[in-house]
Amino acid sequence: MQTIKANTNEITLDSQYGSFINGEFVESANGYIDAINPATGAVLSKIARGNKEDVDLAVKAANEAFKTWSTLSVEERAAYLHKVADALEENTARLSMIECLDTGRPINEFGLDYDIAVKQFRYFASAILTYEGTSRPLPNGQLIVQKDPLGVCAQIIPWNVPMIMVSFKLAPALAAGNTIVMKPAEDASLSTLEFAKILKDILPKGVVNFVTGYGIEAGDALINHKDVHKLSFTGSVGVGRLVGKIAGERLLPVTLELGGKSPHIVFPDVNIDDAVENTTLGYCLFNGQSCILGSRLFVHDDIYDEFVEKLVARAKEVKVGDPTDPSTRVSALINEKQGKRVLGYIDIAKEEGAKLLAGGNRVTVPNNEHGYFIEPTIFEATNEMRIAQEEIFGPVITVMRWNDVDTVIKEANDVEYGLAAGIMTNDFKAALDTAQKMQAGSVWINQYFNFQTGAPFGGYKDSGVGREYGKEALSEYTQTKTIAANFNLPPA
Ligand code: NAD
Repeated sequence: MQTIKANTNEITLDSQYGSFINGEFVESANGYIDAINPATGAVLSKIARGNKEDVDLAVKAANEAFKTWSTLSVEERAAYLHKVADALEENTARLSMIECLDTGRPINEFGLDYDIAVKQFRYFASAILTYEGTSRPLPNGQLIVQKDPLGVCAQIIPWNVPMIMVSFKLAPALAAGNTIVMKPAEDASLSTLEFAKILKDILPKGVVNFVTGYGIEAGDALINHKDVHKLSFTGSVGVGRLVGKIAGERLLPVTLELGGKSPHIVFPDVNIDDAVENTTLGYCLFNGQSCILGSRLFVHDDIYDEFVEKLVARAKEVKVGDPTDPSTRVSALINEKQGKRVLGYIDIAKEEGAKLLAGGNRVTVPNNEHGYFIEPTIFEATNEMRIAQEEIFGPVITVMRWNDVDTVIKEANDVEYGLAAGIMTNDFKAALDTAQKMQAGSVWINQYFNFQTGAPFGGYKDSGVGREYGKEALSEYTQTKTIAANFNLPPA
């Protein structure tokens, strides 16, 4: 055990965590990885460097647990999920601080993360009660169409929003009667492992298993395991393609939530101050490390100069600082590699001729000198530039001018990704007309980021395959069985 001082709080963590398999933390036979605070560089704890051996044990436990978990009534599974939601709610403050220390993200954001996570478990606890098949009489019998669980789900998640990711994947899969082996990201596993301690007291053994470690070891062993029945992955497009290829070869159902480079279109009739605030949230939240970031901003010519002037002034006001300070809005990126990647894109933008309007620098924060703190950065760019096309995963936005709605819609869609899009206007018809034409899985009007309970989430184009959240997620975790019975078999 070790106690870590975090602003005015004290957080106790284990000095090391094994993988969570069959309801127990299992010692790693393959060593441990340091869990590092991205802001200070301090080693917070150690997590198991899981490998094939651990994955084998976890998949075996999950297959065993499936035999009973899948036969529970939906009411029983719903009751378990409500207990998980209650426990998550009770532990929000503590888990939020752990996640803040582990990811470097501002503490003030985690209210949002944990609210979404709790709602996931509650939503699927309710949704499963009405996720019904159908039945009708046949002349000599009965036709039954039912939804069966798939079995053991292999789930792999990234580091940017750990508990949102955990809940997105666990809640629908468990509700539908599946069991899980999840691999959290090697850079941010601590909140998940502390959550495992909570699950240990609630769920039957083996229903949820977490094997930590690197993608090329634990992750690779998991997606290639012969006894898993579903692959669900959130992360980069490159690894997503690999997971999709394995699913294709083995004919496994697959859900892929991948990258994004989302357009945000501002019409000339908006309240500029409100729109600037909305836009700033759209590119600074999660330190910009978000697949749904509204990072390609298209502003109408009529308001462009005033809007951009205010956007730049607002960027300079955003407090960049210690993640544990509640007044901080942008803090440390996840690690040095990510920091260098973002700074690299800032250099590329300058080389390509984009005009730097705000930010662009790494900031030194007292007592957090290790961290990569990047100022909110605004470039005036053109749509074909790499900075406007490639996912950066940092607090960087490109601004572009428009004056013809058909042209801006074409430009907004002219990107490989299609995860989200934003539109700002008071003209309801223009907003809906534009939303209909956006090639994106989620379109937000006059607000950026709105995860409504029950609304499916996922990508068009290279942003992925399948949907999470909402009832559609239940169909990702079930298979349909048709039973046609003849009850009038003539006697032998
Ligand atoms: P990543 O693809 O490198 O890693 C994601 C996860 O996959 C990690 O747990 C990692 O260990 C594992 N992994 C890596 N290589 C693997 C392999 N060969 N086999 C099996 N597992 C492997 O992505 P990242 O850098 O952690 O996250 C950033 C990316 O995730 C961005 O592209 C971002 O857009 C995307 N993302 C998407 C969503 C969404 O919902 N669409 C949400 C968050 C992040």
